[in-house]
Parts: sequence; structure tokens; C-alpha cells
Amino acid sequence: RAAMPQPPVRIETLADARAACAACTRCDLCHAATQSVFGEGPEDAALMLVGEQPGDQEDLAGRPFVGPAGQVLDRAMAAAGVEREGAWLTNAVKHFKFVPRGKRRLHQRPNAGEVQACRWWLGLERQHVAPRLTVALGATAALALTGRGDAMTRRRGSVEATPDGPVLLTWHPSLILRRPDAAEAEAAMAELTADLARARELLA
Ligand code: URA
Repeated sequence: RAAMPQPPVRIETLADARAACAACTRCDLCHAATQSVFGEGPEDAALMLVGEQPGDQEDLAGRPFVGPAGQVLDRAMAAAGVEREGAWLTNAVKHFKFVPRGKRRLHQRPNAGEVQACRWWLGLERQHVAPRLTVALGATAALALTGRGDAMTRRRGSVEATPDGPVLLTWHPSLILRRPDAAEAEAAMAELTADLARARELLA
């Protein structure tokens, strides 16, 4: 006997979207991840920050930016005078993508199809929160928010117009953790901080 079709889920609020996202099977990343990680913050936040995808710790905690990259982001936000509590924090992709290596789970970058499948949730977040400014942290967020996934090197620090409002492009905080050279890491941190300070000024 054929399975009964599921009634469409009605999504009228961010709480509905969060609940529906927890059951998401729009791409295959749902199978290995612990849980989906939906955005969090004030529902009327003027500023939205979008990362790539949850990392190992976010996958376990069910909250965005609570691991090492989140700590870098916290430091940059504090230095820029942007309150984390005042912003909506989310990711382009809501499930952790990884390959197991012994006891560790190594982060893998989501592909364009996974980003496209997950844009549905990001779109709901943008519609409901309706931020005045969105910050794309890294190339995956930039792809999800602007439709263009080319290198950040030439785009970082610029503001691009999109149908859902302006998007300021900056580095992903994990870039700072990955730079082997301390001076390069410091320079990237200074740029991330300056971009976040610019976001604060644009909203003032
Ligand atoms: N990296 C991201 O892009 N997002 C998180 O939530 C954590 C790490």
C-alpha cells in the first residue's frame, strides 16, 4: 500500500521553521549529522550573521557558533562593539557535513547542491527576521546569500545588494584558525573586526 502523502507543513513563524527544519530531508546531510542547527537570536534583529555550516561542537550542542570558530567570532564581535545577543546568528547549511577519521569528525565543505537545498531555510530566516543588514562569513554564506560563490579575496569588505537586502561580505572566522602564519592570521582577524565594525556603523 502506498504511503499516505504527508500534509504540507505550515510555516508561519520562526518557531514553526525551526521545528520543520529539525525534520529536514532536503539533502543527504541529515543522515549522518546529530541534529539540524537552526539560527538563534532576537526575531527582530537588525543584523544577521551567516556562517557556513555547524561544526562538530555545534552539531552536538544544536546551537550555531559555540565551538572554536564561534570563539573567534565572539572576539571579533566584542572588538567591533557588536553584541552577539542582538544579532541573529545562523548558517547557510543547517546540518554538519563531515568525514569520520578515527574518533574525530573532519569538517567537509558543503557543495553547491547542498547549499541550494538549504537556501529554503535561510530564506525563511531572512523573511521572518528581515534584518537591515546581513553579514556573509565566507564564500559558502556568500554563495547562499548572493548566488555567487567566487573567491572572497576580491569581494571581502564590499556590500552587495540582494532582493532580501544588503549583504556585507567578510572572512569566515575559521580562516583565522587555519592560517599557519601568525601575522597573516592577525591581519585576517583585523579585517574581520573592521568589517563587523562597519556593519555596526551601517546600522547606526
Ligand atoms: N562554523 C560555521 O560556519 N558555523 C558554525 O556555526 C560553526 C562553525
